[in-house]
Amino acid sequence: TLAQDIRDAAALLASATDVTVLGHVRPDADALGSALALGRALHRRGARVRVSFGEPDEAPETLRWLDEDGLLTHPDDLPDSEALLVCVDTPVPKRLGRLAGRVELAGSVLVIDHHATNTCYGACNVVDESAEASAILVFRILDAMGVELDEPIARGIYAGIVTDTSGFRRASPETHRMAARLLEAGVDPEAVVRRIVDERPFTWLPMLSSVLAGARLEPEAAQGRGFVHAVVPVEAARTVRGEEVESVVDVVRSVREAAVAAVLKQDLGNPAQWQISLRSIGIDVSAVAAEFGGGGHRQAAGCTIAGSAPEVLAGLREALERAPLL
Ligand code: 5GP
Ligand code: MN
Ligand code: MN
Repeated sequence: TLAQDIRDAAALLASATDVTVLGHVRPDADALGSALALGRALHRRGARVRVSFGEPDEAPETLRWLDEDGLLTHPDDLPDSEALLVCVDTPVPKRLGRLAGRVELAGSVLVIDHHATNTCYGACNVVDESAEASAILVFRILDAMGVELDEPIARGIYAGIVTDTSGFRRASPETHRMAARLLEAGVDPEAVVRRIVDERPFTWLPMLSSVLAGARLEPEAAQGRGFVHAVVPVEAARTVRGEEVESVVDVVRSVREAAVAAVLKQDLGNPAQWQISLRSIGIDVSAVAAEFGGGGHRQAAGCTIAGSAPEVLAGLREALERAPLL
C-alpha cells in the first residue's frame, strides 16, 4: 500500500548518509522543488547530499533560489555512484536523460512520483497517480520521518504544489490543508508565485507577440473539437530564457474553442526536432505523446518529434484522432 511504501521510504532515508536526488531533464518546479526540499531535510540530518538533473547544464534562474544549501551539482561533478539514489517526478529512467544509467549503479533506488506511467523502477517506490504533485509525496515522507519543516523546505514543496496544481485550481482539500502548514512554516506564497510564475523579462513580450501572431485554431481537428497550436522557432527562443519558452503553452491553452493545445518548441541544440507541450481538457494527450515516445499526464503531456513544423502538426492531428477521450 501507499502508506506502507511511505513508511519504507522514510526508513530508507532516515538511515541514509550518502544520497543523490535527481529530477527529470529540463526540471520544473515540482521536480526541483521536491528534490531540493528532500535534499535539505537529509542534509540537515547530516547526510552528504547532491541534487542534480540531466539537462540543461544550469538550473532555470526562476528555480535556482530554492537551493538554499548549495546542493545543486553539475552531472559531471557527481561521484561514480551513490549508496542511495532518489528519483523524483520521473516516471521512467529515460527521463533522467544522461543520468539514466545511475539507476543501475546505485546501491539502492527510491522513486517518488505521481505519473500514472511510472514503471516503479526503484527498490522502493512511492508512486501515487492521485497526488497532484510529487512534492505532496515528499511532504508525506518527511512527515513520516518526523522532519520539522523550516522555511526553505516548505518553500520547495510549495513551489511544486502551486505549479503542478496551476495555482491550486486542481488541489484537493487535503492539499490545501498541507499548504496551510507550509505557510505556517514561513513560506511567502506571493513571492514564490511572483518569482517562479509571474515575473518575466521585457523580451518576453515581443517573443510572445510574434509567436502568438502565428497561432492557429483548427475548430474540428481534435475528434470534432478544437485544436489550437503555436510554434516557437529557434530565432524566437534565442531572445528569451527557457522559462519564457515554457510559458507560451500557458497562454495558448486559454483558448475557449479548443479542447487541445500544442506548442512546438524548436530544439536549440538540434533545430531538426521539436519539443512538444500538449494541454487538454477533452482528450488524453499522454496517449498522443506516448505515440512519439513521450509521456506525461492525461491533461498535460510532452514529447520530442523530428521533422518540419507542418509535418509535426500532421503527425499530431493523426494521433489526436486515435487518442482516448477523457
Ligand atoms: P511540459 O509541456 O510542461 O514540458 O510537460 C508536461 C508534462 O509532460 C509533464 O508531466 C512532463 O513531465 C511530461 N513530459 C514533457 N515532455 C516529455 C517527454 O519528452 N517525455 C515524457 N515521458 N514526458 C514528458
Ligand atoms: Mn515535472
Ligand atoms: Mn509533477
